[in-house]
Amino acid sequence: MTNEQIWQTVLGELELTISKANFTTWFKNTSIADKKNNVVIINVPNGFAKEWLENKYNKFILKSLKNIYPEIKELKYVIGKVAAKQYLKPEANQNNQLESYSTTTNKLESEEKNKNNLNPHYNFNSFVVASSNELAYATCLAITKKIGTLYNPLFIYGGVGLGKTHLLQATGNEILKKDPNKKIKYTTSESFTNELIQAIKNRRIASFKNAYRKVDVLIIDDIQFLAGKEKTQEEFFHTFNTLHEANKQIIISSDRLPKAIPSLEERLISRFGGGMIADITCPDFETRMAILKAKIKKRDFYIHDDVLKYIATHIQKNIRELEGALNRLIAICQFQHQEPNVKTTEKILKDIISNSFRKSLTPRQIIKTVAEFYDISIESLKNKSRKKEIVKPRQISMYLMRKEIKSSYPDIGLHLGSRDHTTAIHAFEKIQKEIEKDKNIEQEINLIKERLYA
Ligand code: ADP
Ligand code: MG
Repeated sequence: MTNEQIWQTVLGELELTISKANFTTWFKNTSIADKKNNVVIINVPNGFAKEWLENKYNKFILKSLKNIYPEIKELKYVIGKVAAKQYLKPEANQNNQLESYSTTTNKLESEEKNKNNLNPHYNFNSFVVASSNELAYATCLAITKKIGTLYNPLFIYGGVGLGKTHLLQATGNEILKKDPNKKIKYTTSESFTNELIQAIKNRRIASFKNAYRKVDVLIIDDIQFLAGKEKTQEEFFHTFNTLHEANKQIIISSDRLPKAIPSLEERLISRFGGGMIADITCPDFETRMAILKAKIKKRDFYIHDDVLKYIATHIQKNIRELEGALNRLIAICQFQHQEPNVKTTEKILKDIISNSFRKSLTPRQIIKTVAEFYDISIESLKNKSRKKEIVKPRQISMYLMRKEIKSSYPDIGLHLGSRDHTTAIHAFEKIQKEIEKDKNIEQEINLIKERLYA
């Protein structure tokens, strides 16, 4: 195994255990620089990351590395030039696990270069079609044959790790394959927002508008992150209209239906619903098996059906996790020159599988964890206190109930002292805005999330 592969395996595990925000904050641009005398040297981009990794993640990284190299004794962190980015280039991806990282890299690159952001790795051939995704697949495929007029916009929604990005990217790639002159732009709503902010700051708003309005196909991934961003929604609305009127194709993905995105402007909700809406749901057992089989076919590695069945039974809701588990299993078994059986698989995947089950949080657990984090009583979160030191944790509880377990607003109100649902909406929006402005709040919430999922 190369250093890159080892590090990807470690990152793959970490990504499943910590929040996405923490993961990107601390592990972006990290890599293994060297490995000698039972010491692994890890490159980090700055002193801040160094401190954080040393103090908070050292144990985890060590444990994860020991799974691969039991003899490793120590980790050293050095601030150095970044090699990680080159590991993450889509072309170099032999391993599907890397795909989830390459989307992050893509985002970074999109800010540097004004290109289509398509990752050639995603295509229709490698997409397993099943009842859980066939409508989304069929509409995407249809669009490649009739751009702009058939389903416009196409709105695809579904949970995390179920193949939205794969389908969107595959659609872009296929259109380009048919006609290399087509101008395609793939972006996430977060990148769109960041670019807009930069453009305003640098007084380049006209060129920003122009870049988005001259394309033939605009693909916007994870539109739910436009929630609460009024200025960006406004700009996006105009971009949308310009393209739509000119019969240019718009493809959007989201983790939920337009009307379920909090504080999304009414006019955008109605635009998004004006074309075709297709969903992707969780794959059933047979589909999970088919996906696993498709993934190992590409690898030179034999895995018995019983082992695949074990994985497909235990990881049900997220194809990215399914792939992550498979990659981890292959990496470790290849290294140890052994063929996996159910028993070893169980051991190797223990952490991943318990993480996969952990997501069934309850409102009660959230309230308890928040109260403990701020060292206040659960009762005070539910009573009428307007003290600042209570109001903020209360709002954070509401925010987390909405964000992490998608509780309904009336339900959130009920759990926190029978408050009105409008209070819950207000709290959610307020915290969401504060996170954007204030790194400390974001950090606090990430720490609470870590406790929730620990
Ligand atoms: P989302 O964008 O919905 O969070 P992704 O598109 O990133 O999910 O998919 C997560 C991983 O699972 C990717 O590596 C993707 O290639 C893979 N994947 C998802 N659905 C399928 C499928 N139907 N067939 C093959 N691979 C899939
Ligand atoms: Mg995605």
